[in-house]
Amino acid sequence: MRNLPIQTILSDSRKEKPNPETLVFGRSFTDHMFTAEYDEGIGWHSHRIVPYAPVTLDPAAIVFHYGQTVFEGLKAYRSSDGTVRLFRPEENMKRMNQSLDRLCMPKIDEEMALQALTELIQIEKDWIPTLKGTSLYIRPFVIANEAFLGVAPSKKYQFFIILSPVGSYYKEGIHPIKILVENEFVRAVKGGTGGAKTAGNYASGLKAQEVANERGLSQVLWLDGVERKYIEEVGSMNIFFKIDGEVVTPAINGSILEGITRKSILHLLHHWNIPVAERKVSIEEIQEAFEAGKLEEVFGTGTAAVISPVGELNWDGYKMVVNDGKTGPLARQLFNTLTNIQTGLAEDPFDWVL
Ligand code: PMP
Repeated sequence: MRNLPIQTILSDSRKEKPNPETLVFGRSFTDHMFTAEYDEGIGWHSHRIVPYAPVTLDPAAIVFHYGQTVFEGLKAYRSSDGTVRLFRPEENMKRMNQSLDRLCMPKIDEEMALQALTELIQIEKDWIPTLKGTSLYIRPFVIANEAFLGVAPSKKYQFFIILSPVGSYYKEGIHPIKILVENEFVRAVKGGTGGAKTAGNYASGLKAQEVANERGLSQVLWLDGVERKYIEEVGSMNIFFKIDGEVVTPAINGSILEGITRKSILHLLHHWNIPVAERKVSIEEIQEAFEAGKLEEVFGTGTAAVISPVGELNWDGYKMVVNDGKTGPLARQLFNTLTNIQTGLAEDPFDWVL
């Protein structure tokens, strides 16, 4: 790893840490954050760890008007011997650079970002909760902060890494969700920004999520933006189907975000010699498999939940109940394997943990 000088200014005060039993997602933040700045002609500079605090931005900053911003999400765990474990952080930095490129933003030095992250986490390691299922969520992000109302790439940016202790996604154990197959709204189209982790993709998904929630369903199954035929993602997770013994997931096509959990699951399935295919999957194919009794399991994958089994799909009033609405054996096996590697309860045969 590179050894860049990162200036560190420690906070004079320490916040009270939240109760790990009642921790929720994304509401509390640690005492410090990392930041660096970019100016056209100079590059990235002023790398520093500073007390966590609000930032002051010009109201004309480009990020407010044209959404030139990207982010990442990953987790740190603390194993029983107290060591800090980061799950595939280099993959997140690589994906952040792909997102930055898509948004015409300057790339970061991935090694610098990893160094900054490890230094920040060392300072904040007491904030990593240790209760089963809890972790420290890491949010790196870059914003365009030039004050300019023209529609053009900013000449100035700021990079941040903030940390948030988060509770267990499954307080009562892993359980399936009910989802709405979304026929009206779309998340992304080929050629758009769906493959990048940028704010606009999430803002445009809120309306469909609201409609699903009003119907008592917890997530939206996104279909492709042209034909509303091919399955893309579920909420902000990638999706997998087990059909007649084979695991199928939509192939990366430019409008799907390539999840690091997805990548890890594909690796595990190959390693276990379970038949797996990355290809187009239509909603009709899922209906046919369901009617033929061949739809064995459905699950979403992502950093927050790791695995989120789907117990019910609702498509235009047609209901498909998967595996009697229960968590299937493959979803459970993948969840246990990944979370054991992440938390240090199992060996890390693929060198995924830093
Ligand atoms: N799709 C979207 C749209 C997401 O926001 C996420 C979460 N980052 C994922 C998929 C899953 O990605 P990962 O496994 O890297 O968390």
